[in-house]
Amino acid sequence: MRILVTGGAGFIGSHYVRSLLAGEYGGDGTESVTVLDKLTYAGSRANLPASHERLAFVHGDVCDLPLLLDLLPGHDAVVHFAAESHVDRSLDSADAFVRTNVLGTQTVLEAALRTGVERLVHVSTDEVYGTIDEGSWTEDFPLLPNSPYAASKAGSDLMARSYWRTHGLDLSITRCSNNYGPYQHPEKLIPRFVTNLLEGLPVPLYGDGRNVREWLHVDDHCRALHLVLTRGRAGETYNIGSGDELTNLALTERLLDLCGADRSMIRHVEDRKGHDLRYSLSDAKIREELGYTPLTSFDDGLRRTVDWYRDHPDRWKSGEEG
Ligand code: NAD
Repeated sequence: MRILVTGGAGFIGSHYVRSLLAGEYGGDGTESVTVLDKLTYAGSRANLPASHERLAFVHGDVCDLPLLLDLLPGHDAVVHFAAESHVDRSLDSADAFVRTNVLGTQTVLEAALRTGVERLVHVSTDEVYGTIDEGSWTEDFPLLPNSPYAASKAGSDLMARSYWRTHGLDLSITRCSNNYGPYQHPEKLIPRFVTNLLEGLPVPLYGDGRNVREWLHVDDHCRALHLVLTRGRAGETYNIGSGDELTNLALTERLLDLCGADRSMIRHVEDRKGHDLRYSLSDAKIREELGYTPLTSFDDGLRRTVDWYRDHPDRWKSGEEG
């Protein structure tokens, strides 16, 4: 199988590519990958093997239709990760989010349709559902996104659905909870807090820290994505969660413990505008239909993640990540 991975130099996409090339999803070891990535501040070529016989890297933009039309023939599938992904940046300016997340997704879909790609997975987020006080979202919940980031992802989900419904493009949509793990850009909560603490700096906690997030190790997310790619049904959406819900304050306390720091390192900062209170996914569908089950316990995954940042200061001190 030959797979085009958009955004494959980012946090989750690069994990998917490294795992695929390492044969971690079974298969016959002959899968080859083309990564298409614009290398924005969030992407790094160093997140991928410097060279690999089954990896090709193309520096380019998912909004570039001629490039995609040139690139896609010969590929069996697309896994579409490329996105502007940081909520806080979308509060400052939403332009790039609409461009890459909505127009870029439509361009990838159009190119896949025109070149006869057999299968596509569109990687989305639980944030499209908005916020939920109690219970958990199933795939049938309405899309009520609150941030410009989430709204742009919801737009991209609907665009993907329309290419399936109207044109019969064989695609599935995934909606995942918050990911954590190695290689994440230091602007995101866990790497930001860990790298601050490793440098003896305080951590900025939004508001009173009572916002609840569901945390999934990136490795479990990527295995779920590959299951959806190979066995998911066309036109279906699959939630991917872990069941590990935590307030931001409880998460911060665990990170303080793992880094050998105490609560005096917490700095409460003004809450994020429109901050969603709670995210919670029901992922019964992917568990029952595709046999998905997360393998990484939160305690173990978080400890290994902290160890990775401790052992790889070159990855976050160099400034390469922006
Ligand atoms: P990331 O910001 O780490 O990586 C995004 C990648 O896309 C980068 O390599 C960047 O260079 C590339 N990119 C950005 N604009 C591009 C463009 N116009 N053309 C080509 N490449 C472009 O993001 P991530 O955390 O790895 O997220 C990947 C996907 O997963 C996103 O679609 C995101 O919405 C989704 N997601 C993320 C999380 C999470 O917790 N990080 C949770 C659920 C879903």
